[in-house]
Amino acid sequence: MPSIYNKLGVTTVINAADSYTMIGGSLMPAEVTDAMAEASRHFVSLEQLHLKAGERIARLTRNEAAVITSGAAAALTVATAACMTGADEAKARQWPLHDGTKNEVVIHRCQCNGFDIAIRQTGATLVEIGDSGGTTVAELEAALGDSTACVIYFDTPQYAKGALSLEEVIRISGLKGVPVVVDAAAQLPPVSNLWHYTERGADLVIFSGGKTLRGPQSSGFIVGKERYIAACRLYVGARNSIARPMKVGKEEIAGLVAAIERYVNLDHAAMKEQHERLVGRLCAGLNQAGWNAERAYPGPTGQDYPLVHLKLDRQAGVAEQLSKQLLDGTPSILVALMPDKRGLALNPLHLNEAEAEQIVTRMSVLYGWLSQQADGSDRLV
Ligand SMILES: *Cc1c(COP(=O)(O)O)cnc(C)c1O
Repeated sequence: MPSIYNKLGVTTVINAADSYTMIGGSLMPAEVTDAMAEASRHFVSLEQLHLKAGERIARLTRNEAAVITSGAAAALTVATAACMTGADEAKARQWPLHDGTKNEVVIHRCQCNGFDIAIRQTGATLVEIGDSGGTTVAELEAALGDSTACVIYFDTPQYAKGALSLEEVIRISGLKGVPVVVDAAAQLPPVSNLWHYTERGADLVIFSGGKTLRGPQSSGFIVGKERYIAACRLYVGARNSIARPMKVGKEEIAGLVAAIERYVNLDHAAMKEQHERLVGRLCAGLNQAGWNAERAYPGPTGQDYPLVHLKLDRQAGVAEQLSKQLLDGTPSILVALMPDKRGLALNPLHLNEAEAEQIVTRMSVLYGWLSQQADGSDRLV
């Protein structure tokens, strides 16, 4: 029977890259799709569902409170808006905000990324501190003022260079009563990150539902202190607010709860073994085919899982050509590039064993082909 994608003429892709939105984030397990189907059969009060599901997520993730959003990017918008107005219902309904509202968000310059727009669309201005060479405590202190809504922090190794430590940011911001929001969208595993950041003192912490958690692609959530989550609640659900275009359906809410429940109860040691097995199999198969592949650690943004790095000791551009060949071929395979772009990074997070074999087979063909380039120019086509 042709799948929905077949009928539409859309190609399915083997995901050896990461939980990338551009190919659908992640795949939902049966527990999640079952919960969504069940939720789709009854009307409920969306507000009550939000509240009760938030309570459940808070318990599952060992946090004081939680609120559900349509993704981590939406969570950045909701958290920013909530920090701008506080739990002031009238202000939350009124936008753009009047002068005198806290309208500045402090961020390390070295942590600025494409998701900044989710912060700026509230109307908030980014106040950037430091540079890739470093950031001083004095720079943070100078940036914190009466107009500061919050500090937003990205805790990944590639964003750490040049930034103050999270502890330092929390300490200094806390002295001025400014909340610290951590965007930890993809920072799983370890599962303990679900409570680790709040234990360290972060006020709000953002996670994506559709990445490692394998919930609905358009889901995410914020955990943290009740007083800030209470402000976030004014922006979710059916009532009109700046975040009304980012509403979450009852099906996504049910699916997200099921995904988190599944994830916290997973056998994480067994999962780790599975990742190691996949990485080991890929390395062995690829090296046998002639490639130079080795296990790398940690995951792309510092997560606790291994990767395969396939090194290409060749001129620049070959890795890009190779990844394009993989994506355009049959089956279509998406891989990431190594940070220096001198090789491919293969991620086990969303792979099964059969797919790993398909990757080895396809890469063996590509190796033979690359070696046959008589002029040795490394061009792949
Ligand atoms: C993926 C990601 C987001 C966006 O997550 P969505 O759930 O797709 O909206 C935001 N911030 C960071 C750091 C991310 O990695």
